[in-house]
Amino acid sequence: MVMTQRITVLGATGSIGDSTLAILAAQPQHYSVYALSGYHRLDKLLTLCQQFLPKRVSVPSAAIDDFAQRLSAAGLDIDVVGGEKGLIDIATDSQADTVVAAIVGAAGLPSTLAAARAGKRILLANKEALVMAGQVMMNAVKIYNATLLPLDSEHNAIFQCLPLAIQQDNMQIHQSSHGVRKLWLTASGGPFLGQSFAQMQQASVAEAVKHPNWSMGQKISVDSATMMNKGLELIEACHLFDLPENKINVVIHPQSIIHSMVEYSDGSYLAQLGSPDMKTPIAHALSYPDRIDSGSQPLDLYALSGLEFVQPDLQKFACLRLARQAMKAGTQATIVLNAANEIAVAAFLDGRIRLTDIADINEQSLNDIQLPPLNDTADIDDILAIDKIARHLTDRLVAKLV
Ligand code: NAD
Ligand code: MG
Repeated sequence: MVMTQRITVLGATGSIGDSTLAILAAQPQHYSVYALSGYHRLDKLLTLCQQFLPKRVSVPSAAIDDFAQRLSAAGLDIDVVGGEKGLIDIATDSQADTVVAAIVGAAGLPSTLAAARAGKRILLANKEALVMAGQVMMNAVKIYNATLLPLDSEHNAIFQCLPLAIQQDNMQIHQSSHGVRKLWLTASGGPFLGQSFAQMQQASVAEAVKHPNWSMGQKISVDSATMMNKGLELIEACHLFDLPENKINVVIHPQSIIHSMVEYSDGSYLAQLGSPDMKTPIAHALSYPDRIDSGSQPLDLYALSGLEFVQPDLQKFACLRLARQAMKAGTQATIVLNAANEIAVAAFLDGRIRLTDIADINEQSLNDIQLPPLNDTADIDDILAIDKIARHLTDRLVAKLV
C-alpha cells in the first residue's frame, strides 16, 4: 500500500491555502489533510473542515469554544486548539509529515520555526519568517534535520534550476557553489509599472491590490505594488541560498512567465517558466523529488511573444533599495523593515495613508530605529522583542502622518 503524506496547512483560509487545498483535493491517493488553521474567515474554515475532515484545527484563542460547538453541530469530531500555542501544537504534531507555512506576516514565524525544530518537511510561503529570523530558521533546519522547500514562485524556480547536490544540501550555495555565479529574481513590476510616481501616489486600495498577473492575499498584493515584495524576497533568497545580497539581482519581467533564473560561471542561465499560478510551485514542493499534476494551465508558447526584461527604478520603488540596505545592515534591520512594512501596509489598507507613504515610513523606521546587531545566540524572543519595538515606533510615525 502506498502511504499518503499527511499535511498540516497553516493559513488554510488564505490564497496559498486555497491553491494548496485544491491540489490536495485532486490527489487524495497521495495526500491527506491532518490539520488546518484559520484566523479571520472562520465560516470558510468550517467549510474546509467539512470537506477535508482534518483531525485537528487551530483558530484564534477567543474562538475555540464557539468553533468547537459549530463543528459538533455539524457532526464533526475534530480537536480544536487556539492561538499561537495551538498553531505550534499542530505545526509540531508527530502525526503530520509536512507543514505548509502559509500564514501571512510575522504571525507565521513562531509556528514555522517550531515546525523546523520538530524536523518537519516545511513548504514555506511565509517569507516574513525568513526576513525576520533567517539565520535562526536555517540553523534549526540543519540541526533538527528538517526539510525546507520554497513555495514562493521565484525561490521555487531557483531551487528547480540548482544542481541536485545543492538542492540536497539545504540549498547552501555559498558552501560549494557548483558554478553558480548569481541568482536573478524576476519581478512583475506590479500594477504601477507603467505609471508615474504621481499616479502611484493617488492609487486607491482597489487599484493597488489588483495585480496584473497573480491573484494573492491583500498584504502581498500591496507589497507587490510597492515592490517591497521583491525586497522581502531578496532577503528571503539570501537566507535560503546562503548568499550575500550582491549575488542576487532583480530584473523586472512584466509577463511573469520566467519565475527566476540561476546564472552559471560558464555563461549558462537556467530559468524556470510556467503560467503565473501558485499551484505549480506548490505541487513541485509537495511531490519533490517526484512530479504531480498541479492543475495549472499549460503555457501556450505559440501565443507568447516579446518577453521583456527591465531594470527596476529604485527611486519609484524605494522599498527595493531599502531591502538591500537592511540586508547589508543585519538581521536587526530586516526585522525593523518587516515590522514597519506590516504596520504601513495595514494603515494603507485601512485608508489612513497613501500607497507611496509606505516606503517613506519604512525608510524612516529603518533610520530612526537603530539597534545593535543581534549576536549569534539570538533567538526568537530577541527577534520578537525587536519586532515589537519597531511596530510601536512605526505606529507613532503613521499617527503623525494621519
Ligand atoms: P492571505 O491573506 O490570503 O492568507 C493568510 C492566511 O494567514 C489566512 O489563512 C489567515 O487566516 C492567516 N492569518 C492572518 N493573520 C494571522 C494571524 N495573526 N495569526 C494566524 N493566522 C493568521 O495571504 P496569502 O496571499 O495566502 O499569503 C500567505 C503567505 O504566503 C505570505 O507570507 C505571502 O507573502 C506568501 N506568498 C503568497 C503568494 C500568493 O500568491 N498568495 C505567493 C508567494 C508567497
Ligand atoms: Mg514571489
